[in-house]
Amino acid sequence: MDDLQYGTRNKRGDWAPNAHPQIAFFWNNPLDLTKWVKFLVAYVWPWNVFHMAVTLLYWRYLLPDWETMKTLSWGWALWLYAVNGVGIFLMYGAIEFFYYWKRRQGTRFKFNGKFPSEQPSDVFWFKSQNIDNFLKSYLYGIMMWTLVEVLMLWCFANHYVYWLNWSEHPYWLTFLLFMTPVIHEVNFFVIHRTIHIPILYKWIHSVHHNSVNPSPWSSLSMHPVETFLYHGVVWWHLILPSNPLIALFQLHMAGYGAINGHIGFDKLELTEDTALESHAYLHYLHHKYFEVNYGGDGLVPLDKWLGTWHDGSKEAQALMDARYARKVAKLNASKNS
Ligand SMILES: [Zn+2]
Ligand SMILES: [Zn+2]
Repeated sequence: MDDLQYGTRNKRGDWAPNAHPQIAFFWNNPLDLTKWVKFLVAYVWPWNVFHMAVTLLYWRYLLPDWETMKTLSWGWALWLYAVNGVGIFLMYGAIEFFYYWKRRQGTRFKFNGKFPSEQPSDVFWFKSQNIDNFLKSYLYGIMMWTLVEVLMLWCFANHYVYWLNWSEHPYWLTFLLFMTPVIHEVNFFVIHRTIHIPILYKWIHSVHHNSVNPSPWSSLSMHPVETFLYHGVVWWHLILPSNPLIALFQLHMAGYGAINGHIGFDKLELTEDTALESHAYLHYLHHKYFEVNYGGDGLVPLDKWLGTWHDGSKEAQALMDARYARKVAKLNASKNS
């Protein structure tokens, strides 16, 4: 595909889309039926269908039985760690293999013209973003994800929390299932904005931000505290009356879905003229500029409402620059007083 039909490339080789990401349409046009249809299709297909398929696979074949999960033990916890580890290796590894190692589409639709392997840096273990991010994904990211998962399943197995049945509560559970992306976005924004408070940033979140040019393995390369909080989105299903299948789906949206913001390409070319939308641009800009786009892709546009939305446009850039100038002026004033 010709990426210059969809965007522009600067002298450094960085590509940017012409069309700027938009917040969900219904905040401006709630009654537009055609847009609702398009929105609902994109809401479930393809990413959430994928997460649900993976969740059903776990549910049917991979989760230990509920009797076993009534007691906390290393056996089934390590089993789930292995399952999550293999799952991530297959999914993230496939994207890494085809688009970063084999480079099947070169730098077409790639936001940053360079590949991480071309940029060794002292901030990474072994000076390599790939090795560093891969190891941290397994040592911190997937480890804490599994811990959250084990605690969640153990609570359900013992009926310490509400476990609603689909036959008795079909409407509420369907509603809750449809709300999972909303819960994800709000929860992510709150946690993410909090760990950008300078002292927490330095201690926790800087690990994830070492990757200024994120790639698939950057997705779960986080400090253990961050990944525990991030996957803790699942606690919502212990507070709200829910069902473990929905809780597991919510967890997979966080774990398997973390890759979306870190794919590094706007589109992944599948064939000569079909491509998969990555939805990665807003979070790519977060890794580039730090103080913008703390949330997801505008389903609940908290960034827009709080003035930190950056869609790649000149206007958004000017707003960010003005905010930064105000911050510097305030800092200088406090130094001089
Ligand atoms: Zn990130
Ligand atoms: Zn951040």
